[in-house]
Amino acid sequence: MPRPILATIHTAALRHNLARCRAQTADARLWAIVKANAYGHGIEHAFEGLRAADGFALLDLDEAQRVRALGWRGPVLLLEGVFELRDLELCSRLDLWHTVHCNEQIDMLASHKTNVPHRVFLKMNSGMNRLGFTPERYRSAWTRLNALPQVDEISLITHFSDADGERGVASQMAVFASVTRDLPGERSVCNSAATLRHSQLASDWVRPGIAIYGSSPDFPQHSAAEWDLQPAMTLTAKIIATQDLMPGDSVGYGSTFVAAQAMRIGIVACGYADGYPRVCPSGTPVLVDGARSSTIGRVSMDMLVVDLTALPQAGFGSEVTLWGRARGGALLSIDEVAHSAGTVGYELMCALAQRVPVQVQA
Ligand SMILES: *Cc1c(COP(=O)(O)O)cnc(C)c1O
Repeated sequence: MPRPILATIHTAALRHNLARCRAQTADARLWAIVKANAYGHGIEHAFEGLRAADGFALLDLDEAQRVRALGWRGPVLLLEGVFELRDLELCSRLDLWHTVHCNEQIDMLASHKTNVPHRVFLKMNSGMNRLGFTPERYRSAWTRLNALPQVDEISLITHFSDADGERGVASQMAVFASVTRDLPGERSVCNSAATLRHSQLASDWVRPGIAIYGSSPDFPQHSAAEWDLQPAMTLTAKIIATQDLMPGDSVGYGSTFVAAQAMRIGIVACGYADGYPRVCPSGTPVLVDGARSSTIGRVSMDMLVVDLTALPQAGFGSEVTLWGRARGGALLSIDEVAHSAGTVGYELMCALAQRVPVQVQA
């Protein structure tokens, strides 16, 4: 028997979340963001649930090849563009669209030999200061690109730093709109948070990532349920042992948890080597046979501990849902677990370990 731990990818949830994002827009086309191996879900596992997307966007050229190997003939966009000249050969061969965010990438394009000109997305640094041409340099970059025989259509793209928060998108949007006002080409500005919270900006192409995986881009302000998003990944494991504690007994490495009264605890076959965050403190929520309980003591490499004191029916073999949907339908949002770990759902799903077996559910 393999260890009793399993990740389930919910095809129907991916389909639902994608439709949910699409419903936010009037008639924008939708990139399903599948970078980081589809946010840890596995590109091949998520593909069926996402095939209603208009295109797939990612950063890794190997992942782009995997999307093509799945038979996808539609648009594929490299969100960071190419890293070296020979990457452009792959773009030509696989018909990959690519972001152009710096002069070095324009230089590479200028020396690339291709019969078929490339569709590119010219990126503006409208305030995030990560990738892109500053507003002052954007138009000259556009002019230079537009003059290259290697370039076909130029689309215009920028990325928001604060679509999920207080600062919002107004100042970045004002910069982007004013600099691009009379430039032709399709626009793409919205990530998940902007698609959900600033849907009036959802034009030509939206780029939802986290929302299609069923995690809220602005938790705890809004939960995934409030956005009507469904978890696309469930992580479950089983209880492989139980212990009865007396007051004063401690649990796990460092004895960080000490029982105040008699307790019953369950040892779960999931640890940080499976991708469950070690930093989750005692009290992080879990579901045991669908009923809410919480973790106790430190998470170790292969195991963690849950409180069974209030769950007398639970024991050896009980199903523990670390996040996602329990067999009976009860939900535990990955966002709640991430919050307890001081991070975001993105990081937890991306960190699902290779050793965890994955099943795809229709
Ligand atoms: C990752 C990424 C997205 C998706 O962001 P979410 O917050 O997951 O929706 C959109 N656009 C770009 C350029 C990205 O890198």
